[in-house]
Amino acid sequence: MKNTIISRIFRPQILKMSGYKVADATHYIKLNAMENPYNLPDEIITQWLETLRSCDLNRYPDPIASDLNAIIKQVNHIPDAFDVLLGNGSDEIIQLLLMALPAGENILAPEPSFVMYKQISLSLGLNYHSVSLNDDFSLNLEAMLIAIEKYQPAIIFLAYPNNPTGNLFNADEIKKFIETAQGLVIIDEAYAPFAEASFIDALVDYENLLVMRTLSKLGLAGLRLGFIMGQPSIIAELDKIRLPYNINILTQETARFALSHYAIFEQQTQTICQQRGVVLTALNTMEGIKVYPTAANFILFKTLTRTADPVFSELKQRGILIKNLSPQGGLLDNCLRVTIGSAEENQLFLEAMSDIL
Ligand SMILES: *Cc1c(COP(=O)(O)O)cnc(C)c1O
Repeated sequence: MKNTIISRIFRPQILKMSGYKVADATHYIKLNAMENPYNLPDEIITQWLETLRSCDLNRYPDPIASDLNAIIKQVNHIPDAFDVLLGNGSDEIIQLLLMALPAGENILAPEPSFVMYKQISLSLGLNYHSVSLNDDFSLNLEAMLIAIEKYQPAIIFLAYPNNPTGNLFNADEIKKFIETAQGLVIIDEAYAPFAEASFIDALVDYENLLVMRTLSKLGLAGLRLGFIMGQPSIIAELDKIRLPYNINILTQETARFALSHYAIFEQQTQTICQQRGVVLTALNTMEGIKVYPTAANFILFKTLTRTADPVFSELKQRGILIKNLSPQGGLLDNCLRVTIGSAEENQLFLEAMSDIL
């Protein structure tokens, strides 16, 4: 009985989907989710807790989060000509973009890329198309241009740097897509803090370009705050379908406070990038794996002499949780992804790796 109701009520695409599963990381050294390993310093935490006293929990928050919006524009050097829309994580912004489209529209992204583009497209009954990256995870320019021509996608998603591969795509090739596309191109800069590359400066050149970022990878994953910037006329349409008060008062106040101490994040980011160099160098000396270049706070590698599954399990037995991408198959066959942690965590990971390989 139940099943008949379920299949009658819900979209078939949803019945076929499996949810986005997050591994239970309790008691593990957690190197699976691209989090910043460092929290704020104790004295800053004390100041932060003090600012929370002024939050009126009985009142709705500022509906347009204007203070937070202003400091986001400031620390990200977003030109005044562009507007910014805030979301409950950039995941919510991906959902907002896709919800705004007519039914049955086409969406395009490379494969492999961030799984939520596909997941949310399918949940909304949109037609998701992907174009395989080359073996070195660069864009297949020709195949992408053919797909743009064929599907006329309403939205193209490009993660820059890409997740889960870690590389930056060729900027000139991306510009070619933006110029060719009839629809919107979303450059997802979730890893901008580690990349020294951005399309924010290209916003003035292209009306159909939007740049999306998040505070999650910077060091505030617990807050759930993402944002997208672009032409005010485009942001205004998206703002119509944003739920009122989508950024709660604690997130507004905490993010505003944290970003007013931006130097702390710049310092932490520098340490993470320096540690990324340490882990890369060490992994590169290990036999039996191929390590891919990265501009993000994680490293993708492929096991060559063994399959990835037992390497992943043996790391886990030693208390270290990374991400096994091998089940996704294709180019990710036997691929594992490790997030850069603290110096101590990275050493434990590297020691475990040299034991296991
Ligand atoms: C982590 C990630 C996101 C999601 O960020 P949230 O703001 O935490 O929802 C978006 N895009 C890419 C490419 C990511 O890796």
